[in-house]
Amino acid sequence: MKKLNGDKITFKVRDLEIGKDKIIIAGPCSVESREQIIEIAKKLKRIGVDILRGGVFKPRTSPYDFQGLGIEGLKYLKEASEITGLPIITECMEEKYLDIVAEYSDIVQIGSRNMYNYPLLKAVSKIDNPVMLKRGISATIKEWTMSAEYLAQYGKKNIILCERGVRSSDTYTRNLLDLAAVPIMKKETGLPVFVDPSHGTGIRELILPMSKAAFAAGADGIMIEVHENPDSALSDGFQSLNINQYKEVYKAVKEKSY
Ligand code: PEP
Ligand code: MN
Repeated sequence: MKKLNGDKITFKVRDLEIGKDKIIIAGPCSVESREQIIEIAKKLKRIGVDILRGGVFKPRTSPYDFQGLGIEGLKYLKEASEITGLPIITECMEEKYLDIVAEYSDIVQIGSRNMYNYPLLKAVSKIDNPVMLKRGISATIKEWTMSAEYLAQYGKKNIILCERGVRSSDTYTRNLLDLAAVPIMKKETGLPVFVDPSHGTGIRELILPMSKAAFAAGADGIMIEVHENPDSALSDGFQSLNINQYKEVYKAVKEKSY
């Protein structure tokens, strides 16, 4: 009955082999302006990066915080992709924007808050783009697996899972990064599993050790937030790396095998 039975799944995003290559996704939490996303894309490309991230529809806790540039931001992201040749990933929060997000991006991200949005998951199960399904804020392994089944129910295979931490009793870190979920979800579903240490810890200094640990645990990729000037970021600046800190992470994980 289950479509994801543990048989290993790999697939291509342009010339990247997801599930085989060691993938790094990096970029700002939010696309803030045309110049911002193009400039950071160029800098990341120069250092080395596989996929560019940038949110344009932002699931903010407060409705008074920056909500993202929407479709205008999608266009800037696409332009950054065309200039640098980098594939892009961005989040879709609502079914009404799914077609346009799918058209402009290489990978569609389903954020933590929407892991339980079954109508959205059903709609996403019908698109051709690869999809990244982030773990719900306090989702169990079973719930996360079943949400992946919602995506896979009609035969969709190009799904990436992303561990991004779960809420715990300890508020020292933003979330509790569950690295045991990496081998568990790989075994349970066969899908590529990525780790997002930025949202997973919410602490900049933990990104490097947790990136190493993610690959040591068998992750197929990491996703990290990078901003040219984290202190002035419109979202998640406190957990974003600057360019030099990103370079350190890139070198550490690409040049060594964990
Ligand atoms: C994000 O990656 O932009 C994001 C909002 O993360 P999460 O859905 O994991 O909170
Ligand atoms: Mn963020």
